[in-house]
Amino acid sequence: MRVWGFFGLGRRGIGAAGRHLGLDPRTQLCVVGHALNGSRSLPNKGRSIADVTNAPPERSFRSGVVLGRIRGVPIIVTPSWLIVAVLLAAVYAPVIDKAVPNMSEGGAYLAAAGFSLLFGLCVLAHELGHTAVSLALGHPVRRVVLFALGGASEMASEPERARDELLIAGSGPFVSLVIAGAAWLGYEAAPAGAWPTALLGLLAWSNLLLAGFNLLPGLPLDGGRLLRAAASGLGARPATATRVAAWTGRVVAVGVALSGLLVDQSSGRAAAAVFSLALAAYLWVAATQSLRYAVLLDRLPRVSVYDLLRPGVFVAENLSVSEALDRAWRAEARGLVLLDASEKPSAIVDEVLIGAVPPERRPWTPVSTVSRPLEPGLLIPDDVDAAGLLRRMQETPSREYLVVRSDGSAAGIIAARDFANRLAGALA
Ligand SMILES: [Zn+2]
Repeated sequence: MRVWGFFGLGRRGIGAAGRHLGLDPRTQLCVVGHALNGSRSLPNKGRSIADVTNAPPERSFRSGVVLGRIRGVPIIVTPSWLIVAVLLAAVYAPVIDKAVPNMSEGGAYLAAAGFSLLFGLCVLAHELGHTAVSLALGHPVRRVVLFALGGASEMASEPERARDELLIAGSGPFVSLVIAGAAWLGYEAAPAGAWPTALLGLLAWSNLLLAGFNLLPGLPLDGGRLLRAAASGLGARPATATRVAAWTGRVVAVGVALSGLLVDQSSGRAAAAVFSLALAAYLWVAATQSLRYAVLLDRLPRVSVYDLLRPGVFVAENLSVSEALDRAWRAEARGLVLLDASEKPSAIVDEVLIGAVPPERRPWTPVSTVSRPLEPGLLIPDDVDAAGLLRRMQETPSREYLVVRSDGSAAGIIAARDFANRLAGALA
C-alpha cells in the first residue's frame, strides 16, 4: 500500500454548492434572426455552480431526438424546433403563393414546408461551421441542438486564446453568408415566377438575416464572442473582455425587446412580438450569465491545485469495496486509485458510487465496479492554474481527478465538489 500527499483539506460538508448561474456561458448561441411566430420557449431554470465543473449530461429544454452524430458530436432536434418549423411554413406559404403565379394553395404550403426544412438545414450548417472549426482547433463540442430560438453548439469549455474564439465565432456567420450568396446567385439565374426561384430568394434572405443577427456585438451571440476576442486581442483581461461583451449583450436584448414591441405591434403581428420578447428574455438571461462568469473568472486565481488536494491511496483493482475502504481509513486517505496487474494506475474510485454500496454487500462488490477508468482527461498536472483546472473539469466532467507531478508521480486527488464549493465560496 502506498500513500501520498497530506495536503488535503478538512472534510467539507456535502451540500448545495449554492448560487445559481443560469445558462451555460460556453454555449455558442445562434438565434434565428427571423420574425418567427408563437415561440413560448424561455430559458431553462438555472444550473448550480457545481455544474460549471460537473456538467450534467442533459438539460430538459434542450433534450430531443438525436438525428445523428458528426465526428462524435450528437446533433439534437427538440420538439420546440418542429413547432417553429410548422409556423415558419404557415407564415411563408402566402408569401410563396404571391410570388409564384399559377400555383395552387396546397402547392404553396408544400413549397413553404420545403423552405422550412431547408432553413433548418441552414441553421444546422451554421452550427456545424462552429463545430468543425472548434474541433479543428482542439476544443471539444458536447452537442449541437436545434431548438425554438435557433441553434446552439455547446462547447466543452471556453477557448483560451482570442484567435481561437474569433475563428470559432466567425465560422457560423461565414457559413450562413456563403449559403446566402449561393442562394442569391441561384435566384438571379433561375427563371422568374417559378417556385424554386421563390425558395432560393427566401433562402438568400433568411441566411443573410441569420448571419446579420448573429453578428450583433453582444453575448451570447456570435458577434459578442467576436467583440470579446477583439477586446482580449487588444490586451483586456479575459474577465474584462467578457464583462464588456456581456453588457453589450444586454443592450442587444433590450433592442430586440423594443423592436418586437414597436415594429411588430405596428404591423399587427402580436405573435411575432411574443417571439421577440421571448428571444430578448433569453438573450438577457444569457448575457447576465456571462457577467457572472466574468465575476467567477475574477475570483479564480484565489484557488490553487494544492489547496484542493485530497490524500489518496493506491489499491489493487481486484479488491472488494470493504477491503478498499478499510485501507483508505487506515491510511487516512480521502481518495482511492486502482492499480492494474502491472502496478499502473488504471482507475479512480467514484466517491458517490462507493458510498452507495450497502454495508452488507461491500465484501462481495469488487471496487472496480465503483470506479472510473483513468482516461487522459482525468489526469491533472499539479502546476495547472485555477482557470486551467476549471477548463479541464469542463472538458472532462468527473467527480474525481488524479493530480500528477511533472515526473509522473501522483500528488493526490481533486474532487470536483471541493472545487465547486471553493468557487461558490468565492462568489458568495
Ligand atoms: Zn453562430
